[in-house]
Amino acid sequence: MTTFTINERDRFPAQKVEISGRWLFGPGPSNADPRVLAAMSLPPLGHLDPDFLTLMNETQTLLRYAWQTENQMTIPVSGTGSAAMEATLANTVEPGDVVLVAVKGYFGNRLVDMAGRYGADVRKITKPWGEVFNLEELTTAVQTHKPAILAIVQAETSTGVRQPLEGLGELCREHNCLLLVDTVTSLGAVPLFLDQWGIDLAYSCSQKGLGCPPGIAPFTMSPRAVEKMQNRRTIIPNWYLDMSLLSHYWGSDANGTQSARTYHHTAPINMNYALREALYILAAEGIENSWQRHQENAELLWEGLETLGLSCHVEKAFRLPTLTTVKVPDSIDAKAIATKLRIEYNLEIGLGLGELAGKVWRIGLMGYNSHPEKVLLLLGVLQKVLKP
Ligand code: PLP
Repeated sequence: MTTFTINERDRFPAQKVEISGRWLFGPGPSNADPRVLAAMSLPPLGHLDPDFLTLMNETQTLLRYAWQTENQMTIPVSGTGSAAMEATLANTVEPGDVVLVAVKGYFGNRLVDMAGRYGADVRKITKPWGEVFNLEELTTAVQTHKPAILAIVQAETSTGVRQPLEGLGELCREHNCLLLVDTVTSLGAVPLFLDQWGIDLAYSCSQKGLGCPPGIAPFTMSPRAVEKMQNRRTIIPNWYLDMSLLSHYWGSDANGTQSARTYHHTAPINMNYALREALYILAAEGIENSWQRHQENAELLWEGLETLGLSCHVEKAFRLPTLTTVKVPDSIDAKAIATKLRIEYNLEIGLGLGELAGKVWRIGLMGYNSHPEKVLLLLGVLQKVLKP
């Protein structure tokens, strides 16, 4: 008889997991609310347990509140923001569809990459990193390219700009195209009226404005987007993110007609507890109060940065309250400062990404971290490090 030996080489890392935590003032993840972490550590239930199904329904309702939408097809995707981003494209793009992407930073380019992988005829318009598109520019581009989908990032985490969205819904309806918006760094923290602004497809993440760890990602699609999905000539080319299947696990078809709950994949149960708690905390505060809190704390940060002699990369009118890009003074090594902050003060800030690498720091004030005492802590530490 063959005998097998146990390979002991990889049996243990040096010690059990010990993470004491850090102040996360970078582009995300942001610090999770302790109440969310407590909810996350509750015992898992089965993915079709009646108590879990109730929690799923509550999460859908609370997500509709956070997005200000009545979209039936509103669920959290099991995965991070990129999974929900992929879900918007996977369900609606058919080979040859023109997808117009308005790119003004790193995440716009990710949309270009993903849309191309689903066979879209991708058209790209660009703006320098740190600027926004105006309605006239987007109107001209839609008239020229006649897209099936216009995709744009509301909160570009790589540059710190907040893209105005008013008027785009009307423009897209006039030209019979869907409006897809990345709300990863805005949901819960930056004014967003999904239905009133005529947004058809949107996605977000858990780890920023919602104060939750990463791993579950809000997703929504309007009846117009559902119609495009249902009239496809080709099969949805991504099984895991197929909303026509997933909708049944969430209790209805994509139009909202009740259906028996059917297993699709094993939901990440504890991430769903966490998101449900995070959304409950947001609802208890009131969405408009959260938007205002984020704006006020960002303004406190901007004033403090100015006092330290630092300036922001983005014009004030288009600055994101959740993510501020700060110009790195000429004589300073951006990375060395970020490393010092981490090692000496247990505090993370982000470095510039892509075109802005080495030129800016990225400071996030999101969800649980958007509070005046945390802004003052951060400013105090920055002062110590930059002006010792
Ligand atoms: N879109 C934007 C604007 C982002 O900032 C991010 C991540 O930071 C993503 C998409 C991707 O999300 P995730 O990293 O959660 O997959």
